Amino acid sequence: YIELMDISKSYNKQSDVLNGIDLQIEKGEFFVLVGPSGSGKSTLLRMIAGLEDISGGTLKINGNIVNHLPPKDRNLSMVFQNYALYPHLTVEQNILFGLNAKKIDKATQKKRLLETAEMMGLSDLLKRKPRELSGGQRQRVALARAVVSDAPLCLMDEPLSNLDAKLRANMRIEIRRLQKKLGLTMIYVTHDQVEAMTMGDRIMVLNDGIIQQVGEPIALYNKPSNLFVATFIGSPK
Ligand code: ATP
Ligand code: MG
Repeated sequence: YIELMDISKSYNKQSDVLNGIDLQIEKGEFFVLVGPSGSGKSTLLRMIAGLEDISGGTLKINGNIVNHLPPKDRNLSMVFQNYALYPHLTVEQNILFGLNAKKIDKATQKKRLLETAEMMGLSDLLKRKPRELSGGQRQRVALARAVVSDAPLCLMDEPLSNLDAKLRANMRIEIRRLQKKLGLTMIYVTHDQVEAMTMGDRIMVLNDGIIQQVGEPIALYNKPSNLFVATFIGSPK
């Protein structure tokens, strides 16, 4: 469904941030991307979203080469590290932003809005503005906006990083449940080993812009291909 062929990235002709990335992601797969800070996770996600030029290689979505396709034509939704919300819009309007552009009737919009808000614990906050919310609440609005859309591909970059442990555990389950229910293809970036191990169908470990290993969580845990993966995943020595 998503195919990366020899993808590379360098900013301003400096040395490569990503190098020779070959990868295929199946339709409906929950694919987790892990690696230390600066390893190139966000860069890779932003290239798939179309927010960053691809320096080399070919990116296909659904069989089509999309290297130069603008983000709005890629039929995907996303939640980013800084979860930017529109400050002048209410929570309700922010959530619906993902839907309004499309031709979905008002009643269906309302139904999806209420379901999603309920699921994300935002039902009582719909009339507020982002500045009247806590960081964690804002993050949940950003999540709601992504999942309310019916795009078949969802990209998330550390969407739970600002939440407390209990909420994070709940949201892991919610995101996974929703992804299954909607049959979404998910590419999910995280620093958190527990998130990676419990949520991913497959995990890719990135270090210094190079793929260290791709596989099911249990395979990475039991058969790490090198010391870096072993240490990162927390395999027994
Ligand atoms: P983190 O876990 O901290 O979010 P990351 O794996 O997402 O890290 P990236 O944001 O992809 O890392 O950054 C990869 C490398 O590219 C870093 O060395 C970073 O400094 C560099 N980089 C990112 N964006 C730019 C940019 N716009 N211009 C130049 N260098 C950049
Ligand atoms: Mg990042």
